Amino acid sequence: MGRTTPRPAMTIEGPIPWSSDKVAQLGNVGREAIAMSHEGECSCGSIRFELTAEPMIVHACHCTRCQRATGSAFVINAVVEKAAVALLSGAPRAAHFEGTRHTAYFCDDCGTYVWSEYAGGFGACWFVRVGALNDPGACPPDVHIFTSTKQAWLVLPEGVPRFDEFYDLNSVWPQAALDRLRAAAPTG
Ligand SMILES: [Zn+2]
Ligand SMILES: [Zn+2]
Repeated sequence: MGRTTPRPAMTIEGPIPWSSDKVAQLGNVGREAIAMSHEGECSCGSIRFELTAEPMIVHACHCTRCQRATGSAFVINAVVEKAAVALLSGAPRAAHFEGTRHTAYFCDDCGTYVWSEYAGGFGACWFVRVGALNDPGACPPDVHIFTSTKQAWLVLPEGVPRFDEFYDLNSVWPQAALDRLRAAAPTG
């Protein structure tokens, strides 16, 4: 019966992107609780990680590639600077999707995807699988994308922006999030 050392309450340092009016605009009330911890792990627990900043945005992607890669109806990705993902244990392995800019990282032992990289303007970010977080409900989608290939039975919530394909960042993201992306990829 080992004693467990209680973890200190987490303090998130660094930029918090969401101004309350933008949160209201995106219909994402959950994002107002900014000091929560976002820890996650793969199914077998060998990869453990923690987000040290709030996501810049959370995508639900309904494209056919994401449906195939997840074996599900859509993927939920929290977009955050690579520097804001602390790898606590394990070594995610990369799988590049031929003919795309997408590289997914997964656990070699259990196969769980933990995050993706998209080369280009988002190259400085990880797209963290929200389903791998211990509290996935803390990161509900801010936008639904590629809904032109959404599963027909799936009814999307009212009030959450949706786009047939991708979207113009400047018209959707709060300025603070745009600034963070620019700071993460100063040459992009
Ligand atoms: Zn695993
Ligand atoms: Zn997709």
